[in-house]
Amino acid sequence: MAYLADFSTKDQYQATVKRTKRLTPADTQEIREIVLEVDPTFECEVDQGFGVLLEASGEFGNTMHHRLYSVADLPERDNGNPLITMLVKRCEYVDEFNGERYPGVASNYLCDLVAGDKIVITGPHGLPFEVPEDRDTNLILVGMGTGIAPFRAFIKHIYKEVKDWRGKIMLFYGARSGLETLYLNERDGDLTQYYDEDTFSAFQALSPRPEWEDPILLDAIMEERADEILALLSQSNTRIYVAGYETVGEMLDKAFSVILGSEEMWERRKAELKAGKKWAEVIY
Ligand SMILES: Cc1cc2nc3c(=O)[nH]c(=O)nc-3n(C[C@H](O)[C@H](O)[C@H](O)COP(=O)(O)OP(=O)(O)OC[C@H]3O[C@@H](n4cnc5c(N)ncnc54)[C@H](O)[C@@H]3O)c2cc1C
Repeated sequence: MAYLADFSTKDQYQATVKRTKRLTPADTQEIREIVLEVDPTFECEVDQGFGVLLEASGEFGNTMHHRLYSVADLPERDNGNPLITMLVKRCEYVDEFNGERYPGVASNYLCDLVAGDKIVITGPHGLPFEVPEDRDTNLILVGMGTGIAPFRAFIKHIYKEVKDWRGKIMLFYGARSGLETLYLNERDGDLTQYYDEDTFSAFQALSPRPEWEDPILLDAIMEERADEILALLSQSNTRIYVAGYETVGEMLDKAFSVILGSEEMWERRKAELKAGKKWAEVIY
């Protein structure tokens, strides 16, 4: 597991906001897609992320605030300058002591940016979601919310650039409501174009009562596909990649314990996958 402090802030670059748009409707959790025009020397590939560096209040002894983000699309160029796309959820946290709500520093800074604003980024930083060299590799991708970001870039890379992918790719994606599913809906559903690929299938989990904050049933949609998942797990060239909030990890453990028959069986299998470098996760 990598810690934030392991990601160096030494290499810093200027980036200018080219576009920013809210992907989720007004009365839901705000998630924005931000396109940055970056320094020509900054190259960020689909299996990488980058840092955003801003000045902190110093209240907690830190004068700089550094947070990591995944690239959410294939790298592009405009007038010779690289463009990188990111997804940001506007975060807030509740102080357990006094119950007050505080805005997350970097996410609110990023969500408030407008086109033309300049920011400082770091990296690029390697993420564990490496594109397998073997095109027969099967991939089970599990994400929630902004956890779709690295997989969107990854899936587009596989079908547009690598091509001729022969392994099966199963994407399990959770969002609170149909309106909050990213890149898999009618408004900005560019991942739906891969539904025609024989090797690609995507499954969405929603919350039965989003207004009551009922959990997103990611485990249920995985359990419904237990046979297909077991078939993939029986092959040695299957990898599992997981991205998003902490609840994704918990739901996934629950689902795989049911699919494999017990928690112990899943713990053993997960340890084998990790040891064989067939498991990668970015949980935040
Ligand atoms: C590899 C990686 C990739 C990521 N990719 C993405 C991505 O693509 N999109 C995305 O939106 N996010 C992503 N994240 C998460 C992102 O880096 C930030 O953590 C997120 O945006 C929140 O940062 P923030 O500065 O707004 O919040 P912060 O101000 O850091 O607050 C966030 C959390 O810190 C805790 N906290 C902070 N200050 C206090 C305090 N004073 N008292 C108590 N608790 C406190 C709280 O638990 C709170 O929930 C990624 C993280 C990693 C590690």
